[in-house]
Amino acid sequence: LEVIQKISAGEVIESPVDCVKELVENSLDAKSSRVDVEIIKGGKRYISVRDNGTGIHRDDMEKVIQRWSTSKIKDVSDLLSITSFGFRGEALYAIAMVSRLVIKSRFFQDQLGIKMRVEDGKVLEKQEIGMQIGTCVEVYDLFYNLPVRLRFLKKEDTERNRIIKLMKEYALSKWDVHFTLTSNGRKVFDLYPCQDVKERIQLLFGQKFEERKNSKNGVSVSLYTSLENTRGEVYLFVNSRPVQNRNLLEYIRKTVGYKKVCVCYIDLPPYMVDVNVHPKKREVKIYKENLVKELIRELFKKTPPYFNF
Ligand code: ADP
Ligand code: MG
Repeated sequence: LEVIQKISAGEVIESPVDCVKELVENSLDAKSSRVDVEIIKGGKRYISVRDNGTGIHRDDMEKVIQRWSTSKIKDVSDLLSITSFGFRGEALYAIAMVSRLVIKSRFFQDQLGIKMRVEDGKVLEKQEIGMQIGTCVEVYDLFYNLPVRLRFLKKEDTERNRIIKLMKEYALSKWDVHFTLTSNGRKVFDLYPCQDVKERIQLLFGQKFEERKNSKNGVSVSLYTSLENTRGEVYLFVNSRPVQNRNLLEYIRKTVGYKKVCVCYIDLPPYMVDVNVHPKKREVKIYKENLVKELIRELFKKTPPYFNF
């Protein structure tokens, strides 16, 4: 049974980037205005995510590593209006099963925090500590007890680059949150909270961007393209969430040019997107995809509609 549990936990968390994703989403769900991420050896040796959010209530500390324990869904009808990233209550459980975990948290109404050490899913130690309000989750030696998974991890560089890419996506989705990323003791970025998304984009990529906006029938598109030509990259967000959509990504590349960095935000009513409830699938289906394409195409015509009010 133990092995089966570990393996199924390993399905939820397959790599360091999955781990970082879950922890950062928890921090954002906890309304943090600052999230600091630190990794060592591409996250294989060490991952830490520290936030200044609401913290975890002391009575809930042991619950958070139980399977299917979530504070985010009250009843099934909530499923239709999920605003938080997480809601399955599986991530911390899964991470706890396949790593050495330390969770420190101080609930916003408490004077002291709790530090809890977990190994193989079991609590080894719990004590009060002095700390700032918020939560810090540290993951040591991911998959130390699951050699199969360990063997399939990519090289340090590859794992690190995946984490950097992921963090850029969150930085672009939550531009009012202060994000830092440190790798092997070196700052990869330190992004102070921004007034608007354009400021964050320019700060992150270190160059000027052009802004274009268009909307029709409840669908709106905001598109930012780099002025300089570089290695082209497209970041796509639907209702503020980083998503993948091959078709649309290719369409955007073709339209803005393959050498531009492009950040595209699409906002539409929730019923127009197929939210995949599988936590790891970023691929979304958009029912009005053609309308989205039309809006993008119009943005690059000679007389862009965004000048006609
Ligand atoms: P989910 O996010 O799906 O609810 P998780 O396993 O990721 O499940 O987390 C379990 C619970 O632990 C969350 O519902 C939340 O109550 C609590 N929690 C986890 N991380 C944090 C955090 N950084 N700040 C506050 N609460 C947290
Ligand atoms: Mg979660």
